[in-house]
Amino acid sequence: MALIVQKYGGTSMGSPERIKNVARRVARFRAEGHQVVVVVSAMSGETNRLIALAKEIQATPDPRELDVVISTGEQVTIGLLCMALKDAGLQAKSYTGPQVRILTDDAFNKARILSIDEANIRADLDAGQVVVVAGFQGVDEAGNITTLGRGGSDTTGVALAAALKADECQIYTDVDGVYTTDPRIVPEARKLDTVTFEEMLEMASLGSKVLQIRSVEFAGKYKVKLRVLSSFQDEGEGTLITVEEGKNMEQPIISGIAFNRDEAKLTVLGVPDRPGIAYQLLGPIADANIDVDMIIQNVGRDGTTDFSFTVNRPEFEKAKAVLESVRQHIGAREIIGDNKICKVSAVGVGMRSHPGVASQMFRALAEEGINIQMISTSEIKISVVLDEKYLELAVRVLHRSFGLDK
Ligand code: ADP
Ligand code: ASP
Ligand code: MG
Repeated sequence: MALIVQKYGGTSMGSPERIKNVARRVARFRAEGHQVVVVVSAMSGETNRLIALAKEIQATPDPRELDVVISTGEQVTIGLLCMALKDAGLQAKSYTGPQVRILTDDAFNKARILSIDEANIRADLDAGQVVVVAGFQGVDEAGNITTLGRGGSDTTGVALAAALKADECQIYTDVDGVYTTDPRIVPEARKLDTVTFEEMLEMASLGSKVLQIRSVEFAGKYKVKLRVLSSFQDEGEGTLITVEEGKNMEQPIISGIAFNRDEAKLTVLGVPDRPGIAYQLLGPIADANIDVDMIIQNVGRDGTTDFSFTVNRPEFEKAKAVLESVRQHIGAREIIGDNKICKVSAVGVGMRSHPGVASQMFRALAEEGINIQMISTSEIKISVVLDEKYLELAVRVLHRSFGLDK
C-alpha cells in the first residue's frame, strides 16, 4: 500500500465527463489498496475567465480581491470531483486550501507556501477517505485567501506530497510526460523517460509550463518522487524527475529547448558609470516585487553606460514606471523598452562536459537570419532573447540542430 498524491490539471478536469474519468482513475488506485490525495485545478479556461472578469471591473485588479475571485475555480472542481467519487462508490471529502490550512506568506497572486497542516488529511486517509484538495490556493497568517501564481496547483500537489511524505506525486496533464520541447510547437518533439531535477528546474524557469517551477523546487528540496503523466491514457510510465544523471553513455548534450514569450526588455541609456548604479536601478524594482531575469550592463564609455534587463511581460509597465522615477534621480538619459521579445533556451546537464554548445546554437540561429538581442548562460543552459516573431522558427531550428528529433 502506498500513499499517492495525484494532481489533475485544468484540461483533465475540463468537463463533467473528464471529471468522471478522473474519478475512475482514482477508484482504480483505491482498488489496488493505495491511499490517494487528489489535488485539482479549475476547469480549463476558468482562471483566465475569472481574471478577465476582474479586469472588466478594475483595470488593475486589487491583488487581495483578485485572489478572492480567482481561487473560486478550484472550489468548484473539488466539490464536483467528490460527487463523482461518491457516485463511483468511494468515500471522499473536499478541502479548500484554507480549510486544510495551507499557510502562505501574504504576497497575493504569487504567495509562497510556508507550512501545511496535514493532520486532518491523514486522519481522513486512515478512515478510508479519498481527500480532494483545491490546488493553487492557501491562506495567510491574517486569514486572507491567497493564490500561488499561474500553474500553482502543481506546487500544491508537491507540497502536500512532501508534507504527507507520500510515496509518489503524480502530475496528470494533457501530454504524457515531459518532452524535448513543447509538442504543440514542434510535433517531432520526443517524450523523455527521465529528466534530472536540475534540468527540469531550468526548463520550468525558462518557460516550459508543464510544471510550475516552485513545484520542482519543492520536490528537489523535500525529495518527492515526481512523475508527469497523461490523464487521457491508461498506459505509460510518463516522465520521472530524477536526482541522478542518466547512467547511459548516450546522455545527450541537450535535453530540451524551452521558451517563454512572456518577456519584456527595459534599457536605461546613458547611466552614469559609477559604483552603486545597478543597485540604485534594481533596488526599487525589487521593492516593487518585480522579478528581474537577464541583466546586461555594457562596458562604460565616456563616463556613461547602458543597462538592460528583462522582466515578465505583465510587469513591463509597472517596471517602466518605477525606472522613470529613478531615472531623473540618478541622471540617466532615457528609458526604452520592448515588450515584443521572447526567450529561447537550450538546457542539458551534458553541456558541462561538452564545449561548443553555445557556438552551435548561435550558428543555427544565424543560418536562419535570426538576430540575438541578449545572451545568458549557466552551467547547464544557454538562453537568448529574440524578437518574438522568431520564436517558433528558433525553437524548431534548435530542436533539429541538437538532434532532439532523433
Ligand atoms: P495542466 O492544465 O494540466 O496543468 P499545462 O497547460 O499547465 O497543463 O501544462 C501542460 C502543457 O505544457 C502541455 O499541453 C504542453 O503544451 C506544455 N509544454 C511546454 N513545454 C513542454 C514540454 N517540454 N513537455 C511537455 N509539455 C510541455
Ligand atoms: N487554475 C490555476 C491556473 O490556471 C492553477 C493551475 O491550474 O495550476 O493557473
Ligand atoms: Mg499547469
